[in-house]
Amino acid sequence: MTWRTRQRFNSSSCPCSATAALALLLATWAAGAPDAHGSPPPEEAAEPPRTFALETYARRSFNYLTRMVDAEGLPYFNVFWTEPAEAAHDWPDFGDVLSRQLQAAVMGRRMTGEALPIEAVWRRKVIGLIEPASGLLARPPTSWCQATADPGNQALTLYALVTAYVDSPDEALRSAIVKMAGGLVARAERQADAGFLGGFGIKSLMACARTLRHEAASKLAGAQVRRVFAEGGLFSPDNTFRHGGHVHGNLRTLVGAADYALYAGDPVLYSRVDALYRYVRSEATRFGFLPEVIGRKGDVVATETCALMDYVGLAVTLANHGHPEYWGDVERVVRNHLVESQARDLSWLRSDPSRPDTGQFSWREVAGRMAGGYAGWTSPNHFLAARETLHWGGPELSGKTRAFQNCCGGSGTHAFYGTRWYGWSPSGTTSPRAGRTSRRRKCLSTTARMAPDRSTSASACSRTPTLIPRPSTSTTERPTSGTGWSGARGRGLAAADPARSALRVGRP
Ligand SMILES: [Zn+2]
Repeated sequence: MTWRTRQRFNSSSCPCSATAALALLLATWAAGAPDAHGSPPPEEAAEPPRTFALETYARRSFNYLTRMVDAEGLPYFNVFWTEPAEAAHDWPDFGDVLSRQLQAAVMGRRMTGEALPIEAVWRRKVIGLIEPASGLLARPPTSWCQATADPGNQALTLYALVTAYVDSPDEALRSAIVKMAGGLVARAERQADAGFLGGFGIKSLMACARTLRHEAASKLAGAQVRRVFAEGGLFSPDNTFRHGGHVHGNLRTLVGAADYALYAGDPVLYSRVDALYRYVRSEATRFGFLPEVIGRKGDVVATETCALMDYVGLAVTLANHGHPEYWGDVERVVRNHLVESQARDLSWLRSDPSRPDTGQFSWREVAGRMAGGYAGWTSPNHFLAARETLHWGGPELSGKTRAFQNCCGGSGTHAFYGTRWYGWSPSGTTSPRAGRTSRRRKCLSTTARMAPDRSTSASACSRTPTLIPRPSTSTTERPTSGTGWSGARGRGLAAADPARSALRVGRP
């Protein structure tokens, strides 16, 4: 890779699309080769590279975090690609998006030193939603939300509360964490959560156990690890995912299982987690694209930023504990996919400043408010991989193409924080584990790892053309249930297109 092209590719202010970035990458592989006449390429003038700083992306998300909320500070889960575009409240707003974004606000502040006023609003809201009797977060009943204490919400909220407590310990947070952990223990004695939700909370419990020395939380984490691996509902005996494995949910389970294995000193479990990581890695492309669901037939391959977050989290955990060879994976997914998943030019979303907000919807400045948020369904070369519609909700939500699912809105910052704080430090300045900085900086320069030099990489590379939706393909329907977190129906972009305009939605 030449100096100039590397600078363009790495620059945090680079306006290029994922497509252009990949084209640049390919161009740079050839850049050092002799031309048709055997002459070496001319030397380019040396220019100092602009720093690739993860904090840049964390800071860019502050616009989204601060502005894509209603008058009460509640974020919107949905953004629809309608005319005009509309942000819509939905049931994940309370225990999912809200908790993820509280955690992101804390992490973003830790990365940049800049506090967002909305952080205090979200903290009050999250703690206010915790039932005193059960200790669990209960979604309130609204016209778009049924009252319930969802296990996924508990997992996300507990992790967010512990993150806030680690940042700034206080009694209110400690009390909320202890109550919620106790509520989860009591809940587990009554019922076991199935599917990935059975493992989704392991990491949160381990964070609680480590931070507060909460023995019951570590015991529950261990019990959930044993059940997930014994039941085999998520992972096959040969260390692959069951068909239709939801990558975000399964990887979050593995992040928790890795944490527990290290905590308990269980090398067998840790080896199994590593084997499953290598399986997921084999399903990714060698340039760092990761599917949202593994093994879903007849699907346009897309991913959500939440999956990138947990892929990075697992890779960094393993890299810090015996597998430094995975730092290259972290570099690829961060540079080639995570960075490109942050929203910048959203001119394809048209707002309507004349329409006042309602209790559920907002149409004003949707594009501007979403800038700095994160894609819900990227493909290798499109910001929005497919036209999808919700399969839940009433007529006010149905039949509309989803531009964003904002579970990913907090997850993007979490992914950068996990990359930055737990390990890889390209700017090499303030990592708390600075002793490893030099190796990480070396990792930054080893772009040769992007060459097809591994069997898994080569096979992933050979599949790449099939990942990209083609105009001639017919409609493909996603399963309507049992496919994971979003479970949304979708159609291949090309088939859904009236004017194939969606194919041009990727970054300019
Ligand atoms: Zn998401």
